[in-house]
Amino acid sequence: MPAQTDFYINGAWVAPHTTNPLEVIDPSTEEVCATISLGAEADTNAAVAAAMVAFDGWAITPVSERIAALERLLTIYTARAEDMAQAISLEMGAPIDLARQQQVAAGSWHLKGFLRAARGFAWDYPLGDWAPGERILHEPIGVCALITPWNWPMNQIVLKCAPALVTGCAMVLKPSEIAPLSGLLFAEMMDEAQVPPGVFNLVNGDGAGVGSQLSAHPDVDMVSFTGSTRAGRLISKSAADTLKRVSLELGGKGANIIFADAGEKAVKSGVIRCFRNTGQSCNAPTRMLVERSRYDEAVKIAATTAEGITVGPAHKEGRHIGPAVSELQFNKIQDFIQKGLDEGARLVAGGTGRPESLNRGYYIRPTVFADVTPKMTIYQEEIFGPVLSILPFEDEDHAVTMANDTDYGLTSYIQTGSRDRLRRVARRLRSGMVEGNGTGFGQGSPFGGYKQSGNGREGGAFGLHEFLEIKAVSGWD
Ligand code: NAD
Repeated sequence: MPAQTDFYINGAWVAPHTTNPLEVIDPSTEEVCATISLGAEADTNAAVAAAMVAFDGWAITPVSERIAALERLLTIYTARAEDMAQAISLEMGAPIDLARQQQVAAGSWHLKGFLRAARGFAWDYPLGDWAPGERILHEPIGVCALITPWNWPMNQIVLKCAPALVTGCAMVLKPSEIAPLSGLLFAEMMDEAQVPPGVFNLVNGDGAGVGSQLSAHPDVDMVSFTGSTRAGRLISKSAADTLKRVSLELGGKGANIIFADAGEKAVKSGVIRCFRNTGQSCNAPTRMLVERSRYDEAVKIAATTAEGITVGPAHKEGRHIGPAVSELQFNKIQDFIQKGLDEGARLVAGGTGRPESLNRGYYIRPTVFADVTPKMTIYQEEIFGPVLSILPFEDEDHAVTMANDTDYGLTSYIQTGSRDRLRRVARRLRSGMVEGNGTGFGQGSPFGGYKQSGNGREGGAFGLHEFLEIKAVSGWD
């Protein structure tokens, strides 16, 4: 097993250029659970140089061989699923059952989705009968910097590394420094899958260091970033001088519009969905908009549901929610709850402080505010914790206006018994995804946002396009 302080560069585990250790904290206990290294510019440059050299060969490798590499990766990922679940659970606090059933499973789901997309992808084709001899080719964009967050670590890493690999790009992955253990394990899997040296590289580091170095690097052709809108802005600025492609998957403030004719379980499942992964999901439905005639009833159901949610450590099996990821996030969420109180929202469940009997670990009380208004901070800002805001709406127009009243535009949710209304409202919502009546999205569906939720689309064929250039060639036939 490689040392956790090492990086994976040019097909080998290497020690960092300079020593710069960072302790990884288990959020369930606040204890140190691992030590990694933060990379320096020399490490970043070594990884980019290795990727540049590897790119030429990998880009012209037949697609069938690149698909075979992805197949090997899927086999290894499946075989080591339990190791991956343990790593994710430890580093970011997902309860072990959630880690196994959703966090790890998201990775294999996307791997399979990319395999299906790559097998059926039109890599090159004639433009059309009106342009004899003209051929359209899809080619890998080049060296890619892949920068990922801690909240769904394998979901994000696979959504970037798998399409980069199969399209023929070479890559440098920088996982979140808060949850780096799953990324290190993933690099072991890439090694075991015999991906050629330099095609995949991993350098740990923080945003100010390796993250910024990669974004500004003249030899990096594309940055694919998932994380906060704040960092997305900084990355776009760093990348501007070299005009590289920047694909952004950023924050969200999802509205869940519940009409009076919605199914009975709409409120309860909306609350559970909001609190899943301790509310640490970019697509969490954190603003529940309820038609006035059923508003009081909805507030009661939401409060009871929140009170029924238990909170506990990540290693324990069960359906509880785990801690927030870090002390920083814990404090931020506590501040948001206090702001909700200060700005006059009505607290109906939870509140500030830790849940009873948990005095160590970054645990948050599942919190519900009613009578929230669009001016309040908790309505506008992404909290990234188990905090739900509820407010009433008068009619369809009012619901759409409030749902769109945000800088974000990632996922919206509609609950209604009327298919016509669902379709009408879905067209008016300014978000990249609209989930209707709790129906999950299919494999290969495009994941991405409007407005300040970003500009990328990940998953399936949409995700392959992100990593491809399009070339027109005449005189082909
Ligand atoms: P973050 O932006 O703090 O960090 C994400 C990654 O970016 C980390 O690897 C970090 O080291 C790096 N980074 C930070 N500043 C950087 C900079 N200036 N230059 C280059 N890299 C930098 O986000 P986080 O706290 O890890 O994750 C939570 C955020 O991610 C939330 O806002 C959430 O909504 C968002 N997110 C979005 C999606 C999506 O697909 N839209 C999915 C998951 C999470």
